[in-house]
Amino acid sequence: MSSKEQTSANLAEGAVPAPLTNLKIQYTKIFINNEWHDSVSGKKFPVINPATEEKICDVEEGDKEDVDKAVKAAREAFQFGSPWRTMDASERGRLLNKLADLMERDRLILATIESINGGKLFSNAYLMDISTSLKIIRYYASWADKIHGSTIPIDGKFFSYTRHEPIGVCGQILPWNFPLVVLAVKIGPALCCGNTVVVKPAEQTPLSALYVASLIKEAGIPPGVVNIVPGYGPTAGAAISSHMDVDKVAFTGSTEVGLLIKEAAGKSNLKRVSLELGGKSPCIVFADADLDSAVEFAHQGVFFHQGQCCIAASRLFVEEAIYDKFVQRSVERAKKYTLGNPLNPEVQQGPQIDKEQYTKILDLIESGKKEGAKLECGGGPFGNKGYFIQPTVFSNVTDEMRIAKEEIFGPVQQIMKFKTIDEVVKRANNTSYGLAAGIFTKDLDKALTISSALQAGTVWVNCYGASSPQAPFGGFKMSGNGRELGKYGLHEYLEVKTVTVKISEKNS
Ligand code: NAP
Ligand code: MG
Repeated sequence: MSSKEQTSANLAEGAVPAPLTNLKIQYTKIFINNEWHDSVSGKKFPVINPATEEKICDVEEGDKEDVDKAVKAAREAFQFGSPWRTMDASERGRLLNKLADLMERDRLILATIESINGGKLFSNAYLMDISTSLKIIRYYASWADKIHGSTIPIDGKFFSYTRHEPIGVCGQILPWNFPLVVLAVKIGPALCCGNTVVVKPAEQTPLSALYVASLIKEAGIPPGVVNIVPGYGPTAGAAISSHMDVDKVAFTGSTEVGLLIKEAAGKSNLKRVSLELGGKSPCIVFADADLDSAVEFAHQGVFFHQGQCCIAASRLFVEEAIYDKFVQRSVERAKKYTLGNPLNPEVQQGPQIDKEQYTKILDLIESGKKEGAKLECGGGPFGNKGYFIQPTVFSNVTDEMRIAKEEIFGPVQQIMKFKTIDEVVKRANNTSYGLAAGIFTKDLDKALTISSALQAGTVWVNCYGASSPQAPFGGFKMSGNGRELGKYGLHEYLEVKTVTVKISEKNS
């Protein structure tokens, strides 16, 4: 069996091979014009394995000058008449498909990188992160030659039509929680629409994006179309969001930085901005729900990937009649974890991404204890090496507590009690966030009414976290601007041009 057939067979069976041992990190430089560059400043930064606190490698540290070089390359690749601009749209789709095929060929390498660098369970990285990234790129590959405008019926002496054109040079700033998936979410639609990009991966997790850079070159995507500049947010990231020659910036990360990105866009060239930010998503469980299923979804909703998900169901509202039973079952579930190195198949919970997040989460846990929530289990660090935190459940949580208001981004569940529909809808919406929500009930009327009332970009009924490249994703309120994925995701990477032509009267 060839390695490609082996990969497909594994995928079909959901089998997970062993991670690569002694993986050698090959790509640590800045990727511009399909070439590898040292940083202009000569600086590098260390990349850490969060499970061991050991350095994996040093990576070239991009800053403003490197971003300038990358933007120049992206601008040249976008010039009218360039190979990229004149390419048949279907060829852009073919190149994206080729990239996905290469990522699939190297999925073992990519999954190992995601696990070592991002603290992800290897099995999740292999089965979920890589598969999702491939699906997203292939989804947008198939859009490439189906994007077009329309003819407009105006005064008959004119012929009017719209063109859906790429915006231009797009800056894309990535988070560390889903480094590869969010890279796919960003470059898939941007490239299928014909834009060029300058990507800044998160400082903690640059390695999978740099590996993909090598595949971008191998796939034959022309030089300058994708440029990847690892570096820090306040330097390289800010250079992108305030750049006068960047036409659009797409960002995933904290609401705090989202505000800075929009401000930088407003103070520079009013570049287009799309933002996918944080959340404090409510999950509402009614007494008539299927208890086993609701406990498990609510649990996964907040504990998946160590709680480091923008959609984390971190405000769990449970109806009074089943509250005590629900808490007891949730605690039993949370106690089932084996913590440790995420490469180990026996492990179900890996480390938090870095010291800063680890400290922030422990501080929020302490605030929960001090503010009077009942600590049901966990409540502190785990082990003496790596950024591990015990799975933690709080009951008797009230709305004004910090753990009920702030995004924790850790393995910490907050369980609140409610009595009526009106009350719970009001409390669920009483937040500046609006990313996602869950409802658990067997009553269809209740589910439909509440899903209309909730201010959230995604509402799940009797499930939590189900997603697909075809379904749009994004936030109401301070959880973001714009939508990613699905057909809506294309709008964020297109300009609409109206062309109107006078028809010669001689012929009429
Ligand atoms: P963050 O600072 O918002 O990081 C996201 C990205 O923005 C990173 O690439 C970051 O660079 C960059 N960045 C930071 N400051 C910037 C600036 N001034 N201009 C342009 N880009 C900038 O997130 P974080 O500090 O890693 O995590 C903090 C909190 O954000 C978490 O606790 C969580 O609540 C939230 N978060 C949300 C998501 C999500 O999926 N929505 C993802 C990650 C984090 P650096 O690599 O240098 O930071
Ligand atoms: Mg940061």
